[in-house]
Amino acid sequence: MKCKICGNRAVIKLRAHNISLCEEHLIEFIERRVERTIKEFRLINKDEKILVPVSGGKDSLNTLFILNALGYMVEGLHINLGIGKYSEESQKKTENFASRYNLKIHILQVKEILGYSTPEAAKKLRRPACSVCGLVKRYLFNKFAYENNFQVVATGHNLDDEAATLLSNILNWQEGYIIRQNIKMDSTHPKLVKKVKPLALISERESAAYALIRGFDYIREECPFAQGATSIQIKNSLNMLEEESPGTKLRFYKGFLKQNIIKREEKEIKLKECKICGYPTTRDICTFCTMRERLGSKID
Ligand code: AMP
Ligand code: ZN
Ligand code: ZN
Repeated sequence: MKCKICGNRAVIKLRAHNISLCEEHLIEFIERRVERTIKEFRLINKDEKILVPVSGGKDSLNTLFILNALGYMVEGLHINLGIGKYSEESQKKTENFASRYNLKIHILQVKEILGYSTPEAAKKLRRPACSVCGLVKRYLFNKFAYENNFQVVATGHNLDDEAATLLSNILNWQEGYIIRQNIKMDSTHPKLVKKVKPLALISERESAAYALIRGFDYIREECPFAQGATSIQIKNSLNMLEEESPGTKLRFYKGFLKQNIIKREEKEIKLKECKICGYPTTRDICTFCTMRERLGSKID
């Protein structure tokens, strides 16, 4: 197997793109694809300050690294969720990565913000850990970005994540959630920072190969509370279809991005300001403040 660009030994075959590549050209291929995605969907401008939420996993570290390499102004934000050893390890990997590549990283501790770690809060509220975690992350990414003058939040969601979530939302016709699958969510309120997913057209396998070749030390374990069966089943099903017909995931997700259902829905959502924290919400008091009230969090 030879690299299609230089003829040297290829290390990977990308059937969705009908191409085999050597290490050097895989790196170039991924970085160019991210750059093209940013341009095609007008995700970010060079004069915008970008906050990359970094979990310590390959996708978010890749996002931080690639955006920096492409010349964008980026800083990372890691949220320590207080999930025992898993969170300690994630924070350590993120900090080591930042110092190795001389990138700026901010760290927030959920325990200091809520008075409880995410699993403790979930237990007290009798809610699944993943739903508390998702809510806390979404709220804090936006709040931190807004308060520190970032114009963009760029997460590390990859193609497999997006295609699987999209399929799951369609299977259950969760129309309200489908909008979140967009590759860009513009600011629709002064305190709502634009969100983008520069890696949304890069598959899990391509992302893993990139991190491996670059020699990144990332956290490999899944969160112990990882959403479990359904999302994994959906990813496996999509991989089976992909195996039969390479490019399926990309066609599915890119086809969705062309639908105007997204734009229509975006305009329909009316946002108010939370009576407690002032951040945008569809209710009188936002879900984050409702949670804090129920927890009796005293810390500000
Ligand atoms: P997930 O919801 O775990 O699939 O993660 C989606 C994206 O959220 C990742 O690609 C990261 O950009 C970001 N993220 C997840 N966990 C954290 C964390 N603990 N701290 C900061 N960012 C995170
Ligand atoms: Zn090559
Ligand atoms: Zn609030």
